[in-house]
This record gives sequence, structure tokens and C-alpha cells, in this order.
Amino acid sequence: MGIVVENVSKQFDSFKAVDEVSLEIKSGSLVALLGPSGSGKSTLLRLIAGLEMPDSGKIILTGKDATNQSVQQRNIGFVFQHYALFKHLTVRQNIAFGLEIRKAPKAKVKGRVEQLLELVQLSGLGSRYPSQLSGGQRQRVALARALAVEPTVLLLDEPFGALDAKVRKDLRAWLRRLHDEVHVTTVFVTHDQEEAMEVSDEIVVMNKGRVEQVGTPAQIYDRPASAFVMSFIGPVNVLPSSSQIFQGNGFDSAHPETFLRPQDVIVQTSPNGTTVAARVSRLIHLGWEIQVELTLDDGQVVMANLSRERFDELNLEAQQRVYVKPKDAKSFPLYYSI
Ligand code: ADP
Ligand code: MG
Repeated sequence: MGIVVENVSKQFDSFKAVDEVSLEIKSGSLVALLGPSGSGKSTLLRLIAGLEMPDSGKIILTGKDATNQSVQQRNIGFVFQHYALFKHLTVRQNIAFGLEIRKAPKAKVKGRVEQLLELVQLSGLGSRYPSQLSGGQRQRVALARALAVEPTVLLLDEPFGALDAKVRKDLRAWLRRLHDEVHVTTVFVTHDQEEAMEVSDEIVVMNKGRVEQVGTPAQIYDRPASAFVMSFIGPVNVLPSSSQIFQGNGFDSAHPETFLRPQDVIVQTSPNGTTVAARVSRLIHLGWEIQVELTLDDGQVVMANLSRERFDELNLEAQQRVYVKPKDAKSFPLYYSI
């Protein structure tokens, strides 16, 4: 196991930022900590790094109890959202910094720096200063600097959070490819579910200092363990279980609310046994996907997502009468609000 977090709690005054968290992160994997702001992601990351001490519980790194080790002893690479590179040092000198502190031989440092420049696709920019780089390039230098000392574990706290959407998307794909080459055990904090799904092998969903679910992106999406996970991981209709759309088709539930993803709403132009009638109250065109707002006869509003192809096939128009039923729906014993 790369990282084991055993029953770890951390309180600030009377506030439980991390509450009895247990977690196992496989050696060489890339895991996302995903959750809303304030859910304890950064605190958990800082506990793994040794930047915070837990009130109780253990942190085990590559089989060794690291709970009482310093940051240096843990051999952690860390990249933050605003990673301050040394302004007065060139890219090359920034990357070399950690190795020089450790008094690595000059020739080794030089070779390693060139290798890292290539790895983060910045060959040719080694003599520049941070002010001469774009935000995305700076974060790549920060990553190269963190990787230079061959850390046991790489911890990234919203590393692309301050960059604009297009650059962030490019860097996600880049990080995934980089990890496939380097294979260092990596924990990546994000509040963006799409980013977590795209980049990671496994996702740890956090809410209010606790772990709600751990699983692959597909498991988290297809089999959410709680109402919180289902609503956090993608758009969802939250409907009263008594709504007519759930009657007689196996999705009726004793729990008060039922969760229905917009892409799990079947829309047709003629009725069959289990469909209910609805009116198309609004159409929103999003390129290849069309959002259809439906109003059921009981007044309930349901959003459906249709592919462009299916939409054209149905030839839908606003105010048209249609017939709908759920393909899949879920309900949960407890409801946690976001
Ligand atoms: P996230 O990274 O998921 O947004 P954090 O781990 O940063 O969440 O914070 C979790 C909660 O703990 C927040 O409510 C935050 O205000 C609180 N917190 C974090 N660090 C401290 C601290 N050093 N002192 C007091 N409260 C803190
Ligand atoms: Mg944070």
C-alpha cells in the first residue's frame, strides 16, 4: 500500500475538519480527493504531508508508520494552487533547488533537470524566469520541482485551480499522461467532479470531514453510495418518490425522495404501458446534447438530456405532448444536503 490513513481525526477549536477518516491508496495510483469547499480535503492532504498533526489516528507511508515523522522525513512532493516559484531563480535553478539542498553531485543534478524539463515539456525554457512563463507553464515547473527529489508521494492541492478553463483542461490530460510515465503515488485535491473523473484511477468523495465513498469514476457515477454522492457527481432531478413518473415501473420507493439523472429519462412521442404524459416546457440546445424541460401532469418539472440524434429522431418542439419514464432511478435511506 502506498498510503494508509487509519482512523484519522483533526479538529480546529470545536470544529471537526477531518472526522475518523480511514483510507487506503494503492502504490503508484493517482487518486482524487473530491468534495465541496470546506469538506476537509486540504486538511487531509496536509495531514498526509505532515504539515498538520492528527488529534488521533495514524498515517502509514509505504508500510512505515509516518505519524510522527517530519515533512522532510516523509519525502513528500507538494504542489499548491498558488505555488510560489523562486522569482529570482530560472526555471532550471528552481527545478534543481531541492537536489542542491541535498548536495547531490553537480553532474547528476544537471542530467536530472534536463530530464525533468523534457518530462514536463518545457525543454528550451530552462533559462527563463517565472515572470516570463504562463500560469500553466509555472505549474508545470512546480510539478517538475516537486518530482526532482523523487518523492515517495506526490500531493497536489487544486494545482490547476487558478488557471482558466481551457488551460486547466489541457493540464488535466497532461497530468494523466505524466502519471502514466512516472507512476509516483499521487493524491490530487479538486472540487471539480469532471476533473476528478477525467484524471484519476480512484475517487475519494468527501463531505463534512468524512469519506462518503471510494471507488473508480465509473463506480462512483453508476453506483453512488449516498444521496450526497449522487447529487455531487453530476446533474440530477430530485423528485418526490410519490411522483407519477415512478409509479408502476419498479422505481417507486418508501424513501421520500428519488434521484433521477437527466440522461436516464426516456422520452417518446407515443404512450406505452408504463409511461406518463408530460409537456415539453422548454428546450435548451447545448450543441450535441439537448436539455428538455418536461412538466408532468402532476405539475412536477423533470429535466431530460437527449443526444442530438435522439432529439432529431423525436422531432421535438416546445409545448409538445410526450410520454416519459425512468430508465434508472435511485433512492437512499438518508438525505444529506450539499
Ligand atoms: P477543503 O480543502 O475541502 O475546502 P479544508 O480542509 O481547507 O477544506 O477545511 C475544512 C474546514 O476546516 C473548513 O471549515 C476550514 O475553515 C477549517 N480549517 C482548516 N484549516 C484550519 C485552521 N488552520 N484553523 C481553523 N480552521 C481551519
Ligand atoms: Mg482546500
